[in-house]
Amino acid sequence: MSLKPLNLYKTLPTTKAGNAVVRRYLLPPLECPYQKTVVLDLDLTLVNTVIAPKGSDRSAIRHDIVFQSDDPPYDDIYVLKRPFVDEFLRRLNKIGFEVVVFTAGTKAYASRVLDFLDPSRSLINHRLYRDSCTPISICGGAAYMKNLFHLGRDLRMVVVVDDDPISYCLNPSRAIPIKPFLRYADDRQDDELMNLMGYFLENRYDVCFEKFNSTKNYRNST
Ligand SMILES: [Mg+2]
Repeated sequence: MSLKPLNLYKTLPTTKAGNAVVRRYLLPPLECPYQKTVVLDLDLTLVNTVIAPKGSDRSAIRHDIVFQSDDPPYDDIYVLKRPFVDEFLRRLNKIGFEVVVFTAGTKAYASRVLDFLDPSRSLINHRLYRDSCTPISICGGAAYMKNLFHLGRDLRMVVVVDDDPISYCLNPSRAIPIKPFLRYADDRQDDELMNLMGYFLENRYDVCFEKFNSTKNYRNST
C-alpha cells in the first residue's frame, strides 16, 4: 500500500483554529532534529492484559497491577509486564531516543497502564491512543492502523516496534516486528525486549535507521 505525499497530507488529523480547520501532526516538533524516534506498541508488546468480571479472585490471574474499568460493567483489568520492560524503557531513554507509545487501546485504559510503567513521566516522551489511529474494517471487524506519516517526523529516523502487522502496514519498512507477549507457562523466559535492547544499543550511533530497516536485519542479528 502506498500513498502519494499530497494524499498523505490530506489524511492528517484535523483540529480547529478559530473558524478554520487545520491539519496537524500528532507530535510537536523535535527540539533536536537528529533525534531518533522509537514508536512502541503497548498491548502484547510491553504488557499482556486480561479482563475478568468485577470481583474475580485476584490470586487466580497473574498480574503486576489490577484496576477497574471506567466503563460498565466495570470489569477488572489485570496487567502483566513483559520481562525487562522497565529496563528497556530506561535504556532507550538513557541512550537518547525519543520514545513514543502508540497504542490502539483507548486512552481510559492505556493511560492507566502507562502511568504504571512510567509513573514519573520521564521515560515515555509522548503517548498516542486509539483516537490517533486510522480505523479500518477487516472481515467485518474493527482494526487500527498507525500511520507514521502522521507523527510529523522524518521517517528515516523512526522505527516502530509492534506485534501486529496491521498496525504498521502503511509503513512496513520502518517496522521491527516483535513476537506477541502471551501468557504461556514459560512467559517468564521471554527475552524479546532484552534482545531488542541489545540491538538498539549496538546501533545507537547510526546516522539513520537503515540497519533497523527490516525484520530480516533484526532477526538475523539475534
Ligand atoms: Mg499489540
